[in-house]
Formats: sequence, structure tokens, C-alpha cells
Amino acid sequence: MFDSSCVFCKIIQGHIPAQVVKENDHVVAIKDRSPKAPVHLLLIPKIHIINVATMEDVHAEYAWYMLQMARDISKDLCQGRGFNLVMNNGADAGQSVFHLHMHFLSGKSITDGGFLL
Ligand SMILES: [Zn+2]
Repeated sequence: MFDSSCVFCKIIQGHIPAQVVKENDHVVAIKDRSPKAPVHLLLIPKIHIINVATMEDVHAEYAWYMLQMARDISKDLCQGRGFNLVMNNGADAGQSVFHLHMHFLSGKSITDGGFLL
């Protein structure tokens, strides 16, 4: 379930502080420490999955849980504005914490030069 050496697992367990914006039984949403947009959150499933490339069928519900959280946050914070969901999978794709997570970005258009995550 958790990896004792994983920063996100430690945040989920409350061992490392984070700015939690929203949380339920399956996903926690925290503020990114180096925001690339006015709203930049990380949606983190409460199970240690490395990334999409390592997901198994048993993890399928977590994909939906992450999208549900994105939907709920968009209602809370975006007031009708658009938002981007970005997932980096693998070091050469920019993944720096090897626990599946989704970047939720809003308040800046990805078509205006894109994001460097
Ligand atoms: Zn983890």
C-alpha cells in the first residue's frame, strides 16, 4: 500500500506536512511547492503506484478517483475556467516523484507557451 521511502506516501500518512486543498478516502490534492500556474495542484492517489506504465487492472478505480477529484476541484476553484491535467511518466518525461500523480493547472493557458513541469 505504501512505500516507506516515498515522499508522497509520507505526505498521505501525515509524516510530512503539505498544503492539502481537498481530500477523500482515495485521493489527496495538495498545492505544488513550485507552482507553474496560478492554480497548480497535485492529485495523489492514496496507494503507492509508481506511474501509468506500472498500473495494473486492480488499480483501475484509482484513475477514476483522480478524475473525480479533478472534477470536484474544478467546481471549487475554476469558476468555469478551463484547466489542464498533466501526468509525467518516467524520469525522461519529467517525473520527479515516483508515485503516480496528476498535475491540475488552471489560470494560465497551456497554449500560451505551455508548462515546464
Ligand atoms: Zn508512494
